[in-house]
Amino acid sequence: MRDSPAAAVIGGGIIGGTVAWRLAQRGWRVTLFEKGELGAEASWAGAGMLSPGGEVEDRSPFADLCLHSRSLYRAYVEEMVHESGVAIDYRECGAIDLAYTPEEWDGLRERAAVQQAIGIPSREISPDRVHAFSPYARTEGLLGALFYPDDGMVNPREIMQALRIVCAKQGVEIAEHTPVEHIVVQGSQVDVNGRLYDAGIVAAGAWSDRIGVSGVPVLPASEPIKGHLIGFDLQLGGCPTILRHGHTYLLQRGTGRLIAGSSLEHAGFDREISPSIVERLRHDATAVLPVLEKLELADVWTGLRPGAEQLHLGRWHGSPLVLAYGHFRNGIMLAPASAERIVAEITT
Ligand SMILES: Cc1cc2nc3c(=O)[nH]c(=O)nc-3n(C[C@H](O)[C@H](O)[C@H](O)COP(=O)(O)OP(=O)(O)OC[C@H]3O[C@@H](n4cnc5c(N)ncnc54)[C@H](O)[C@@H]3O)c2cc1C
Repeated sequence: MRDSPAAAVIGGGIIGGTVAWRLAQRGWRVTLFEKGELGAEASWAGAGMLSPGGEVEDRSPFADLCLHSRSLYRAYVEEMVHESGVAIDYRECGAIDLAYTPEEWDGLRERAAVQQAIGIPSREISPDRVHAFSPYARTEGLLGALFYPDDGMVNPREIMQALRIVCAKQGVEIAEHTPVEHIVVQGSQVDVNGRLYDAGIVAAGAWSDRIGVSGVPVLPASEPIKGHLIGFDLQLGGCPTILRHGHTYLLQRGTGRLIAGSSLEHAGFDREISPSIVERLRHDATAVLPVLEKLELADVWTGLRPGAEQLHLGRWHGSPLVLAYGHFRNGIMLAPASAERIVAEITT
């Protein structure tokens, strides 16, 4: 092992954790640096939709990456479950987009036509058939609905529990409560916290651009984009597919927990819960699933999505420093394909 190459992964979210695991599987000696605890930031907060149908609007490299990652997901989860023994709530449940106005319906149909051409299937379902898919969805005033059979969901907190175990099993040194403040690039190596590595991977989410660097230009900007999510306890089977309406989405975990979201806020690193945003989310979620009106809120939380001008996935100026951040609202879905790309970049 002493002769095998060494990598420092900075950031223990789903991106850094998956890169660390995959590199260690390839025989690399990996140290995973995490300023706090593994999987306690965006990868803890995320809803876990795996939904090219809701996220892709046109043909682009991003669309290709989403579709590729979605296609890797089942095997990614199965391997992790097998290696870790952690049960992961992963479901190929599909998603329904609902339209209550002619404008919404036209918009959905136009988007679906573009998506069909790039390999995202969907089919129209008439309002009177929506309850066959989702028994409590509001059908009053419903003009049309689209079903996306390939969209799915996963519980990202369970992924992070499993990643901790599979990384440790593969010999990844997990350095929690160990922030990296500065990285020095020296020729073909990087100095991270006083040790030399053959590659350094910056996967520090919203905090990535706070890491100082020498020997290469400053890292591209990253920005936290805050989001609120709310939870209810609904009888299991109450919302068997993802439901979407405009910016509102609802999904149900295998425990019965119904999650609804979300907001997009430029609020720096603030994590405060805003009662008015919670009220708005509750209102919008109830408009889609009226049964929520009778339920108490069971949970509310916020998280900081890793925003950036673009997704950064690759070597920084040809150096041994590799960027893996800017996954914004899709990092849970993109983790398998992003890690695959980063590992290919480093090992070839
Ligand atoms: C409300 C909400 C809903 C979402 N819903 C979805 C969804 O449905 N589907 C989807 O695909 N995505 C979703 N996302 C987005 C997804 O959660 C993120 O894109 C993904 O978790 C990003 O993973 P990451 O590893 O890049 O970042 P993070 O999980 O934030 O991990 C980065 C880690 O780096 C650590 N770190 C930072 N600085 C340093 C340093 N200097 N040294 C060491 N460690 C450091 C942090 O502590 C953190 O643990 C959602 C996000 C939010 C907030």
